[in-house]
Amino acid sequence: MKNKIQLITYVDRIACKNISELNRLIQNEFEGLFGGVHILPFFYPIDGEDAGFDPIDHQKVDPRLGDWGDVKNLSKTVGVMADLIVNHMSADSEEFKDFLANGKASKYASLFLTYDKVFPNGATEGELLQIYRPRPGFPFTKFKLSDGSQQLVWTTFTQKQIDIDVYSEGGATYLETILNLYEKAGITMIRLDAAGYSIKKAGTSCFMIPETFEFIDTLTQKAHQHGIEVLVEIHSFYRTQIEIAKKVDYVYDFALPVLVLDTLFNQNAENLKNWLNISPKNVITVLDTHDGIGIVDVASEGNEKGLIPDMVLDNIVNKIHANSEGRSLKATGAAASNLDLYQVNCTYFEALGKDENMYLMARAIQFFVPGIPQIYYVGLFGDDNDMELLAKTNVGRDINRHYYTRDEILKKTASPMFEKLAELMKIRNGHDAFNGQLELSDTGNDELKIKWTNESEWIQLDLDLSIMKMQIEGTLNGEVKSLFSI
Ligand code: BGC
Repeated sequence: MKNKIQLITYVDRIACKNISELNRLIQNEFEGLFGGVHILPFFYPIDGEDAGFDPIDHQKVDPRLGDWGDVKNLSKTVGVMADLIVNHMSADSEEFKDFLANGKASKYASLFLTYDKVFPNGATEGELLQIYRPRPGFPFTKFKLSDGSQQLVWTTFTQKQIDIDVYSEGGATYLETILNLYEKAGITMIRLDAAGYSIKKAGTSCFMIPETFEFIDTLTQKAHQHGIEVLVEIHSFYRTQIEIAKKVDYVYDFALPVLVLDTLFNQNAENLKNWLNISPKNVITVLDTHDGIGIVDVASEGNEKGLIPDMVLDNIVNKIHANSEGRSLKATGAAASNLDLYQVNCTYFEALGKDENMYLMARAIQFFVPGIPQIYYVGLFGDDNDMELLAKTNVGRDINRHYYTRDEILKKTASPMFEKLAELMKIRNGHDAFNGQLELSDTGNDELKIKWTNESEWIQLDLDLSIMKMQIEGTLNGEVKSLFSI
């Protein structure tokens, strides 16, 4: 994977009718900004209940967006990452409909994870209570088969997302077929969506158990045979994330978004620096994504302390709500229909109280910490919460999933903040020092100093939190220059 910034986007929400238009946008308006793109689910259909994470046909590009040839063409412009939705598929898929019609006689019967596969002798109350879910309730849904019998099926997310039995022959073939398609379409990186939930075992939490690691490991080896690298998407306690990172190609640094807010809100970089001293380096960094801002990633677990003391964390969450004038509150937790109650739904720009300087500082920190930075399309424009979309759908995460028009994009890309962000992005993409070694200076907690050195090239971020000033300096054509400042 190139050590350059990646864009995370839906195709149809960034004023592109299809994948070819996205390709043109990246080549023209976004020239020099991105080395890769994570296209959020583009399979059929893109507009299910979970915005494409509930595919009816994972092997088909939604015809409204184009076909696999268009993905291949895009891969000639930038590195392409796609989701591999390992845990579930839509209840409207042909496979599941066939199962409902034919029961055990269906050729797809083995593909789905029925309750009795995990609990052949029934489950005890204790076993059921142990199962981890990011929201209340049990992960099972009752379905009626055409012969009148009833069957409980695992549905970890919504009742319309049917869990796949990844151990079954049908499950393995399904995933292998998708990997094959991806390879042919030039996709070089997959994001294992909701991978932590993929293995269920009686008597465990059914989340990130040792067998899950084994499954991820085997799937990673298969992906490598197709020339594909693997990013594992898991929100969890930070120590778990450190352990996972040792075993996979890449994880997300999901602790970073809140740690950056903590640094800027409290003008204190202690927690961030402590994290950087132990954090995994094989990471993709984000400040924002199509999901909310993760809280479990920095919080305590049981008696174990988190990366941010719980009281401070509470204050940060309250500050996000205050900065967004209560808008994020309407989209978060039980206030709206949410898959994950432990995420705060708000654009990162509003979380920072629409302070442009702070926003640029946040991005600069993201670009200087270890990892490949990703920028979510709404974050690229440093945009506001979309209250209209939220009101229309009552889906909490829609607050940060705006549908842009072409005019809006032209206006946004002409704004001074976008121009400054683009300048920063070009520095991150172009400066050779970022391919070298990192040094985190041992400064006071009101200062953050990060330097990258690669032979004679170096670049340094110096953020003085006591007066909220930032300076980036480094080598440029053999001379030391100030490259960016706020
Ligand atoms: C994705 C979410 C999705 C969920 C279920 C997550 O990890 O990022 O957007 O709703 O998986 O597929």
